[in-house]
Amino acid sequence: MRTIGLIGGMSWESSAEYYRIINQETNRRLGGVHSAQCLMYSVDFEGIKRLQHEGDWNKLAEAMREAALRLEQGGASFIVLCTNTMHRVADAIETAVSIPLLHIADPTAEQIKAAGFHRVGLLGTAFTMEQDFYKGRLQQHHGLDVTVPDEDDRRVVHEIIYKELVLGKIVPESRQAYRAIIARLIERGAQCVILGCTEIMLLVSDEDCAVPLFDTTTIHALAAVNEALKVD
Ligand code: GLU
Repeated sequence: MRTIGLIGGMSWESSAEYYRIINQETNRRLGGVHSAQCLMYSVDFEGIKRLQHEGDWNKLAEAMREAALRLEQGGASFIVLCTNTMHRVADAIETAVSIPLLHIADPTAEQIKAAGFHRVGLLGTAFTMEQDFYKGRLQQHHGLDVTVPDEDDRRVVHEIIYKELVLGKIVPESRQAYRAIIARLIERGAQCVILGCTEIMLLVSDEDCAVPLFDTTTIHALAAVNEALKVD
């Protein structure tokens, strides 16, 4: 099996989900007491969050490059960046290391297309919902039509991520707020909804949404196992 190199800590609450899903899936597929062969480099999220909100993507790119290099030097076969938002600096990682980066948007878009959808609603941090690095990839590489919440709803989605979910706080009123925001995306034509932030799956599940949900944490973690167990 190949060694998975995880860049985690953004936040550790979702990295723990990646670790759980990757190990459970490896065991489901291989049986016995098999578990995943992996490395995780987990950052201190406080500094990352500050740089994101200051808009210092150069420093963030440097931090992600360094993390990826450490994983490559440690023997990782490929990189899994356990956050949607930090894919803003995916190019910097790809040029820094000679092992591949498994981009979170790609297996997500592949599953959506395989299910026959093209009009997707996207929830994530303000960076993911507003900037082009993520929506652009879904639109230009995969031909999906992406709808994001309006400005007030985007603020609510973003604040709940940074004030609650990255701390593992699950607040029923916040779930209600997400349900209402998802309903408005569906009213505007979304055929399915991408949970485009790796913590949202802690709060929202299928029963909160009248159309299919595509959870990037689960999809990305399962794609990592596929890659690790791939036979050449
Ligand atoms: N885990 C989140 C994401 O998937 C947000 C935390 C971060 O900014 O990395 O976008």
